[in-house]
Amino acid sequence: MRCSYCGAEFEVPENVVIAVCPYCGTSVITVTGEKVKEHYVFRLNYDFNIAFKKLLSVISKEIGVPRDLTQKISIKERRLHYIPLYIYRIEVYAVLNGKKISEEVKDIATLAVEKTPVPVPLGYKFPVRGKEYFNPEIVKKGVYYSPTLNPEKVLEKVEEEYKGKVLKEAELELGSSPLETGVKIVSKSRYLGFAIYPFWEIVYTYEKGEYRGFVDGADGIVIYSEYPKKFGKRPAILLTTLLTTSTLIGFITPLAIYRNLQAAVYGLIGGLLVSTPSLVKLLSKSFGSKGEYFLEVEKIGISEEIR
Ligand SMILES: [Zn+2]
Repeated sequence: MRCSYCGAEFEVPENVVIAVCPYCGTSVITVTGEKVKEHYVFRLNYDFNIAFKKLLSVISKEIGVPRDLTQKISIKERRLHYIPLYIYRIEVYAVLNGKKISEEVKDIATLAVEKTPVPVPLGYKFPVRGKEYFNPEIVKKGVYYSPTLNPEKVLEKVEEEYKGKVLKEAELELGSSPLETGVKIVSKSRYLGFAIYPFWEIVYTYEKGEYRGFVDGADGIVIYSEYPKKFGKRPAILLTTLLTTSTLIGFITPLAIYRNLQAAVYGLIGGLLVSTPSLVKLLSKSFGSKGEYFLEVEKIGISEEIR
């Protein structure tokens, strides 16, 4: 296929409905050769320097990160990925005898590819605001990908969650199981368009190691990063404290209560066993030259309200 905007030649896999030029992001419907009308791009609100600062501030807080990281760090590569999303209007109702009992109406954006070079965490909520119509002249130079998933099938899948919500609300409303009362679910959900979403990939070096991280270019969230690790004093102290306190508690408690040495010995073993999982976790975090940071979607509290 030849791109109508930049003239580049590129291969399009057979099952792809929308083909995106990997060089300029222009998209066409493969069957008709028409340009995709509802093609959006999410604004790149975080330029490379701010994204890199965000990454640094997140990894600096991890256990074992060397103190001189910021002095010795050097950037090796930067890449802007524009990953494809589908945007939908979710509109689901629970209806009883023609009367609406509950509803879910909202716009959502979700991945249009099975795999991306960007490690997007499971359950990551993409914003739906902050998008504008795609225009190859306004986007920064990046890497673009064609969507590979069927938009209708994706909608069916994402709709499930909202159908469940509507049913639950209907149950609360009616005070009985919606299935028994004959509640029906009506869907008017539809596909709104195709969008591309920016993520920074940053490769940096520290001493002899090379590390990779990813930052959301639209809202600056660090989603994943590798980082250098040195076994410092802090984890060593933590480790010793954990070991001694847990064994001592196991040993002393039964001794004090029962004045029984046998129980105390069992307590000692118990204490060691109790501390084992956390020990293993701490040990694996403390050794080795490379650590990994994963965004925990729930903990960060990326709620639907703020997105
Ligand atoms: Zn092009």
